[in-house]
Amino acid sequence: VSFSLTILGSSSAIPTSQRFPTAHLFNAGERFFLIDCGEGTQIQLRRFRIRFGRINHIFISHLHGDHVFGLFGLISSFGLMGRKTDLHIFSPPQLESILESHLNTFGHERQFAIIYHPLTGSKPKRILDEARISVDTIPLKHSTPCYGFLFREKEKLRNIRKEVIRFYNIPVKDIMPVKEGNDFVQPDGTVIPNAVLTYAPPPVRSYAYCTDTQILPKIASQIEGVDLFYHEATFLRKDEALAKKTLHSTAGQAAKLALDAGVKNLILGHFSVRYKTVQPFAEEAALHYPEVHLANDGDVYSIEPGGLVFLKSIQSATAGQINDTDT
Ligand SMILES: [Zn+2]
Ligand SMILES: [Zn+2]
Repeated sequence: VSFSLTILGSSSAIPTSQRFPTAHLFNAGERFFLIDCGEGTQIQLRRFRIRFGRINHIFISHLHGDHVFGLFGLISSFGLMGRKTDLHIFSPPQLESILESHLNTFGHERQFAIIYHPLTGSKPKRILDEARISVDTIPLKHSTPCYGFLFREKEKLRNIRKEVIRFYNIPVKDIMPVKEGNDFVQPDGTVIPNAVLTYAPPPVRSYAYCTDTQILPKIASQIEGVDLFYHEATFLRKDEALAKKTLHSTAGQAAKLALDAGVKNLILGHFSVRYKTVQPFAEEAALHYPEVHLANDGDVYSIEPGGLVFLKSIQSATAGQINDTDT
């Protein structure tokens, strides 16, 4: 079952020729979740060949343009493409009136409903609870209300060994209880222990997304041990004062948090366009966290049952650069 992440945009506030503003597409078992929707997100979805009609859930961390400007165009395209499926948008509450006003002004016929889920509060909350996955907020600290998101698979049922079904003549009605961990009792009273009948399911996987924020050491407990951790690294340490002032983080701070939280894999992104390349971010992060991935638009990370992350880069030609202009 897939559990993968495609980076659609890895720049910070200003798009560059190499990087679009923030957007991630997260695929959990062919359920597609869009996380943030910076300007041009629909173009990136096209470039990376993602059928965007399959996105039914959009999570907006906060109401800064580099995380939300792409939503207006994307929703317009949904309308033009004849979308009929409900669209769920999770965001700080002010988005609803802004988006509705925009749609009323520029709107085409729309045959789908938008269902708004306002994000509020300063404690983590469960905002989506489905059979296979849950999503919790990670309250962050930024210049406007801001939330990260923690995606976690649900505990799976045990796998029943095919050969034992026939061998012990297990009736259909008893298969679910066995998968849930119960022993099987034969008609003559003989108990077949569950361990003989089943084997453990693959471990649950998790993905935590945190941008934009001042570094928050206290979230370590909530994200402890996640398989994949994305954190913003807008600045380098030499600009730490600026990071503090603008409520952003440095690469080193993010890497130290990743280490403290014992996450299994770390991706940094949201790089400021004041820097030319990402190399110094890697060097700075490496002082704290052993192996760091630096986001590039088009990168795909997949968490396999063995716990490995495979990386493929859709557009490696420009990987590494942030900004090749003077502004
Ligand atoms: Zn931002
Ligand atoms: Zn921001």
